Amino acid sequence: MGSDNLYDIIIIGGGPAGLSAAQYASRSKLKTLVLDKSSTAGAMAYATLLENYPGLTKPVTGKELLDTFRQQALKFGAEYKEAQVIGMSLEGEAKEVFTMDASFSAKAVIIATGSMGRKAAIKGEAEFLGRGVSYCAICDAAFFKGRAVCVLGDSEEAVKEAGVLARFAKIVYLISPSQKLKVESDYPALSIENLKVIFGTSVVSIEGSDTVERISLKDSSGRESAMQMDGVFVYMHGTKPVVDFLQGALERGENDCIVTGRMTETSIPGVFAAGDVTCTEVRQVVIAAAQGCFAALAAEKHITGRKKTKLDWH
Ligand SMILES: Cc1cc2nc3c(=O)[nH]c(=O)nc-3n(C[C@H](O)[C@H](O)[C@H](O)COP(=O)(O)OP(=O)(O)OC[C@H]3O[C@@H](n4cnc5c(N)ncnc54)[C@H](O)[C@@H]3O)c2cc1C
Repeated sequence: MGSDNLYDIIIIGGGPAGLSAAQYASRSKLKTLVLDKSSTAGAMAYATLLENYPGLTKPVTGKELLDTFRQQALKFGAEYKEAQVIGMSLEGEAKEVFTMDASFSAKAVIIATGSMGRKAAIKGEAEFLGRGVSYCAICDAAFFKGRAVCVLGDSEEAVKEAGVLARFAKIVYLISPSQKLKVESDYPALSIENLKVIFGTSVVSIEGSDTVERISLKDSSGRESAMQMDGVFVYMHGTKPVVDFLQGALERGENDCIVTGRMTETSIPGVFAAGDVTCTEVRQVVIAAAQGCFAALAAEKHITGRKKTKLDWH
């Protein structure tokens, strides 16, 4: 691993928790990297109007406030890379973080991936996971070269990922449960020729033998149909902490949330967690940002061996 990929702190997730941590960490002159799956995939990016974050004099969209959080962190020197973390090795003193294209190492890690995951809810979804069902187009698109795949969802993330798949698959069906996608009608991916949108339709089961072979659908009038399909990419959101990349590491609480102590420390030294991914009782931007602050200060103490938290008031 080149020294370019060595950091003091790696923050996984670019929502208010991760970006607030990045701001505090980089302002303390720590070499800080934020790895974010997508700036449009977190809970805050979904908030159409926010008016209860302290300091706002008028309502803003979640996206607008998130852009400000990001710019502020970058201004203090944090690096931001759009990449999905798919695995980690946390037990050693150096923490290793893996994406599809690269690996990174740091003295401390802050997990701030939010709570947008969901339990497998479609018949056959869990059974065919890794055998045609996937939650990551960037990771798995190349396996579906020349095949027929579908993306389930109506979010900007779902549309974007359908665009990624269309570069590989023969045909991509974007199956939206609602009658309207959550993007403008001139969104670039929607003009791709081999991407077809099916509105107001849900997938009720995923079927096959060794791998996925077909899906059963139900439209808003209750009419059922079936389609031959090789791959199913699920982008339906729920409220389960996003911890799939941890592969069982770290103590968990109810619904798989990460258990943290008073200063956001987890069950592994040097690993901290902040925001909706933790077992917090209140899921709000102000809490996520505050926990990000705690996490960065605690990580700084861990790295420097300092006994007391360092605060600096300019
Ligand atoms: C529709 C809606 C409206 C809301 N309205 C309000 C409101 O008015 N006021 C309020 O205070 N709160 C509101 N909330 C709640 C608030 O948005 C959340 O509490 C807050 O965003 C949590 O911040 P977070 O940083 O923990 O997670 P998130 O904002 O969810 O950010 C998580 C980030 O992690 C990234 N990520 C996930 N997995 C990976 C991975 N494997 N690798 C790399 N990156 C990854 C995601 O891309 C995302 O950027 C609302 C939430 C929703 C859904």
